[in-house]
Amino acid sequence: MTPGNELLFLALGGSGEIGMNVNLYGCQGKWVMVDLGLTFADPAYPGVELVLPDLSFIEERRDDLLGIVLTHGHEDHIGAIPYLAADLGVPLYATPFTAGLIRLKLEEEGLSRDVKLNVIENGGSFELGPFGFRYVPLAHSIPEGNAVLIDTPHGRIFHTGDWKLDERPLLGRPSTPQELTAIGDDGVLALVCDSTNVFNSEASGSEGDVREGLMRTVADAQGRVLVTTFASNAARLQTLGEVAAATGRTLCVAGRSLDRIITTAKAAGYLKDFPPTVDWDDAMKLPRRDVMIIATGGQGETRAALARIAFDSHPIKLTQGDTVVFSSKQIPGNEIAIGRIQNALATAGVLMVTDRQAEVHVSGHPGRPELEAMYRWIRPQILLPVHGERRHMAEQARLGLASGIDHAPVQSNGDVLRLAPGKPQIIGHEHSARLVLDGDVILPADGSTMNERRKVSLHGQISVAVALDRKGKLIGAPALRTQGVPVEEDKTAFLAEAAEEAAGVVPKGSQDEEALRERVRLAVRRTATRWTGKKPVVDVLLIRA
Ligand SMILES: [Zn+2]
Ligand SMILES: [Zn+2]
Repeated sequence: MTPGNELLFLALGGSGEIGMNVNLYGCQGKWVMVDLGLTFADPAYPGVELVLPDLSFIEERRDDLLGIVLTHGHEDHIGAIPYLAADLGVPLYATPFTAGLIRLKLEEEGLSRDVKLNVIENGGSFELGPFGFRYVPLAHSIPEGNAVLIDTPHGRIFHTGDWKLDERPLLGRPSTPQELTAIGDDGVLALVCDSTNVFNSEASGSEGDVREGLMRTVADAQGRVLVTTFASNAARLQTLGEVAAATGRTLCVAGRSLDRIITTAKAAGYLKDFPPTVDWDDAMKLPRRDVMIIATGGQGETRAALARIAFDSHPIKLTQGDTVVFSSKQIPGNEIAIGRIQNALATAGVLMVTDRQAEVHVSGHPGRPELEAMYRWIRPQILLPVHGERRHMAEQARLGLASGIDHAPVQSNGDVLRLAPGKPQIIGHEHSARLVLDGDVILPADGSTMNERRKVSLHGQISVAVALDRKGKLIGAPALRTQGVPVEEDKTAFLAEAAEEAAGVVPKGSQDEEALRERVRLAVRRTATRWTGKKPVVDVLLIRA
């Protein structure tokens, strides 16, 4: 698929899922990429933490790729850069705070020299072949949330990135309704828009409201207070700094990602008034009422500070009468892990405040009233929902059509959508898939390694070693070992019987090795099924003496 005299859109990630955003725009033989994110693994990928987009479509056309434009610094938009950008060999474009986060990632992977990173001022413009780009600031839950306004020979695209409306954002200066209306006045072909919160009937709310909610909650607390939030939410950190100062508490920070964000934010000119912090030991020496801790781990991450504090394996201690404030929402899928931490805290007598009891969190994504306002300002010919599961994107398309937008196509990763000329239309499908980072190795998410891993983790494994002499006669008894097969105290008896069954199917004379291995495998598996009702993976090794 090579774009001709037309404007194409192709998502390699982020359409049909929340996470791993990778959007391509194609025109006159050239492509540009907007965002290069990752997603976090679920139990379907045992032993894996990070999921990456399969970029083979554009890797095969890297000569026609002009650059990668990053909207903002969340992992689902920049997280795959250290793993995939160097191979693409094209420059990156980002505003200063986002660029600071990317630079840290590249340094950690030793890639600073391999990837060219262009820093664009907030509100700045640049050109890539037939595409002109301008950053348009919007409020979000990280500094420098940006839309990109993309000029093309076939019309303009307003690609929102992640956004919300916030009249009191605390950090940065989002575009005003007047500025957005002016963009609409100039004519917009397509609004490519965040679908995350399309099912919310209310607006996301302001960071300013959270400030008041947190102020009251912390002022009412008796002992130590710990607040957990996303490290990247620098406006929330700013709020927490103000709350600590106003309530006379000394701040203490627990979590490596928090240290990193605070440093990067200060370098980009944010968090100027953030109060000085004390280290963990000093914080524990202060009177309980004089301490406020900011910690990572509000999503239940087992290795983050909050989990370690809850399970008493951290220098910071919480006890009876202390308070933990969850200044974040539960990301779907994390409820069980968060519940485990909350139960441990409850057992220790720690009080907890979540966004259901007090206004201690607001979302960074637009609810329906905000989406409708954006449609009124931008007035696009086409609404293209992205950044959502299929149900979110389909619902946003319905909302857009009901608001009077002419076209609202729903696409999935891999669909090639022609935006112009003519009516928007899906004209083809290209390869899109998930990769996993397993240790240091990048693999297909549905390849042999992950399939084997899944099978072994579900069914257990039995290894069988069979020694044969030169004529193919069995030497001694087959040796067996089990991993994760539910035989427990019957193990010795089970292994003896399985070894006997295995020996029984080895014929006396020479034979085809493959057939022999299969006979032994089936005999051992049958025995395991008889004993346990399970069908473990059986691995047979033939040894020739
Ligand atoms: Zn975001
Ligand atoms: Zn996002």
